[in-house]
Amino acid sequence: MTRVAVVTGGTRGIGEAISIALNAAGFLVAANYAGNDERAKEFSQRTGIATFKFDVSDFDQCERGIQKICQSLGPVNVLVNNAGITRDGTMHKMSFDQWDAVIQTNLSSCFNMCRAVIEDMRDNCFGRIINIGSVNGQAGQYGQVNYAAAKSGIHGFTKALAKEGAAKNITVNAIAPGYVSTDMVKAVPEKVLDKIIATIPVRRIGEAADIARGVLFLAADEAGFITGSTIDINGGQHMY
Ligand code: NAP
Repeated sequence: MTRVAVVTGGTRGIGEAISIALNAAGFLVAANYAGNDERAKEFSQRTGIATFKFDVSDFDQCERGIQKICQSLGPVNVLVNNAGITRDGTMHKMSFDQWDAVIQTNLSSCFNMCRAVIEDMRDNCFGRIINIGSVNGQAGQYGQVNYAAAKSGIHGFTKALAKEGAAKNITVNAIAPGYVSTDMVKAVPEKVLDKIIATIPVRRIGEAADIARGVLFLAADEAGFITGSTIDINGGQHMY
């Protein structure tokens, strides 16, 4: 049976690697994105994966976006909540807009997207939901109270929804990546990045494919006994 998978922020960075890995494994993939049409077009031409533009921080857009995906690919079986942004700043300089944008895009998006697919998953007695958290949601990070709060929220969200979904064969898990080589991390100054790499036992930052491998594992039909868990993929940077 071909499973339909939606990857938010699925056209570049970690999401791109996840979309490609799921597609290669035989899933029918819908890659969502927010605004970078040029990148989405290039991605779709290169991979053959369908793209869907909508803002995951907007509840109504998510509902309409999922309706479109269902119409063109079928009901959603696998949802990867990957889209995320940073708007860094220390608390005494952070504006409400910086706070709100990160909470809405990184955390409320999980509610918006899960709400839009959960009824079909319940009706079909199958679902795989994978939320992308962050090591910075587990350990905290200077200048990221907004990001750390949103990512930490994802881990609680994951466990609560896992309890709700279990009886209907809907598993809900999180992946907490460490630093991964994407546009998001390219924004980190080189000196800061060197300091970060010095704290990573494997002495490198991750590749997007390192995270995609974990998603593929959790998305499988055979992963039905894994729910409410978080897989840390961080080169040993944070262990607990
Ligand atoms: P990225 O390279 O900046 O890509 C972000 C993706 O999310 C893009 O496809 C972007 O679409 C999409 N997006 C952003 N806001 C959106 C919105 N409102 N609605 C729909 N799509 C939206 O990010 P990344 O580094 O791959 O990160 C992916 C996820 O992993 C994020 O949740 C991030 O917090 C998490 N993470 C990353 C790292 C890291 O080191 N990179 C570490 C830990 C966790 P457009 O292309 O249209 O802009």
